[in-house]
Amino acid sequence: MLQVQQCCFPGEPRITDRLNGVGSQHGAMAARGRRSGPNGRPRAAGETAPLDTTPPVTVRSGMHEGVAGWIEVISGVMFSGKSEELMRRVRRAVLARKRVQVFKSSLDNRYGIDAIASHDGGRIQAEPIQSALELMEKVRPDTEVVAVDEVQFLDDDIVDAANALADRGVRVILAGTDMDFRGRPFGPIPALLAIAEKVDKLHAICVRCGELATRNQRLINGKPAPAEGPTIQVGGLESYEARCRRCHEVPSEAHAQTSLLE
Ligand SMILES: [Zn+2]
Repeated sequence: MLQVQQCCFPGEPRITDRLNGVGSQHGAMAARGRRSGPNGRPRAAGETAPLDTTPPVTVRSGMHEGVAGWIEVISGVMFSGKSEELMRRVRRAVLARKRVQVFKSSLDNRYGIDAIASHDGGRIQAEPIQSALELMEKVRPDTEVVAVDEVQFLDDDIVDAANALADRGVRVILAGTDMDFRGRPFGPIPALLAIAEKVDKLHAICVRCGELATRNQRLINGKPAPAEGPTIQVGGLESYEARCRRCHEVPSEAHAQTSLLE
């Protein structure tokens, strides 16, 4: 699993800034609050310090002022842990007391329509959306972090939507499969990778040879599915495996028909 260095991102205060309260009166107040007890008196031995309720820090560095937004994309093959990584970042944002909204494409209903689940059993609530427009309608004005899972199923307008959210100061976390079962770029993912400030490409393990897997192998009745099939097959009987480039198989329709008869 990739380790994400979130503290080094634009908009997130550096540890030293936070400790010194740089650029934030609230930070200085919080620092004073830690040193003294209620009403400014010295804290008695054993008295518990209040929780740090420092609000989001306003960036005042260089030419820019205001809370900075950005776009993160978590991409990769199926079974590579994208949803787990999305959930990890969401949980950390919630711990940091950010106002978070989580969405997922309603095309993916493997785990119920209102939840994201990882293959290892984790689960968080998510609002289903069918389009980028619906996403923009559902994001509240005061939301600080927007996370979207299965973003490859959304329309191309998700690119403009993500940019618009980031421009107004929102941290946008997008997770999606980067290639379809043929090994071709999937939906809006290529454009999202281009505009993102941060990209993480995760890998699975090839079920055939044990190398790093980067491809989605679609199987029908246990045989490699032909390239001519639809990119998105909702409710189909097909299954998927993670495979490496060398073990990935995409036969033509004619070849697949022959192999099914073998
Ligand atoms: Zn392999």
